[in-house]
Amino acid sequence: MNGKVWLVGAGPGDAELLTLKALRVIQACDVWLVDDLVGRDILEFARPGTRIVEVGKRGGCKSTPQDFILRLMARYARQGRQVARLKGGDPFIFGRGGEEWAWLAEHGIDVEAVGGITAAFAAGTDLGLPLTHRGVARGVALVTAHTMDGSRPDWQGLAAAKLTVVCYMGMSNVDALADELMTAGFAASLPVAVVHRAGCSDQRHVVSTLQSLAADVAASGLASPAVIVLGEVVAHACALQPEALQSGAAA
Ligand code: SAH
Repeated sequence: MNGKVWLVGAGPGDAELLTLKALRVIQACDVWLVDDLVGRDILEFARPGTRIVEVGKRGGCKSTPQDFILRLMARYARQGRQVARLKGGDPFIFGRGGEEWAWLAEHGIDVEAVGGITAAFAAGTDLGLPLTHRGVARGVALVTAHTMDGSRPDWQGLAAAKLTVVCYMGMSNVDALADELMTAGFAASLPVAVVHRAGCSDQRHVVSTLQSLAADVAASGLASPAVIVLGEVVAHACALQPEALQSGAAA
């Protein structure tokens, strides 16, 4: 049998948020290469005999080099194995899925992808927060505040676009991020929600405004993994009581 690599989105961390297709595919695979944001409960779905290789590489932690992961996938696939590359959320949202697919295809390996619920969507669902909302936000931008080359999204363009903005990997320097956003034209009073471990049973969040964000995040103790949701839609979060929409309310 020809080997193949499946780039599988495992969702935000809770096994219940895995799609049925993802479950079917990973249970048909012999080898799993698992990122560290993948919910540990999901590992219990592995068939007996599945080889599970943990290849987590969170920012700042000891990590498995990307190059090594690519070669490992190729090696197993060339042995004729079905390989599941399990990633948190969706493989194509800040998940390097595009790079991995391109590299594998260049090396003659069959690849297919299975989507997953990305953290931004899980965060919206948890708080009853409509990322798009008629008359309030016509769209949503998923951005990262942390890039290897130090470059930034076009914050000024985003401020003018009046979209909901969900920032991934933004928790290491919330203070600087908030300053950058306000300098770029985001209102100091803009509502912001920070959602830690969205979609998981231990989810925690804090609601704030851009100007109070750094202080409120520090007071709440929330850290990575979390997404920062910026936009008027935060004031429409249906799962939050009105008092929870006051700046600094944490849960
Ligand atoms: N592919 C993933 C994103 C990986 S980048 C996805 O689609 O969700 C890693 C960043 O994702 C983290 O720094 C954090 O900003 C975000 N993240 C991942 N899982 C999360 C979760 N359960 N809750 C909140 N943020 C999460």
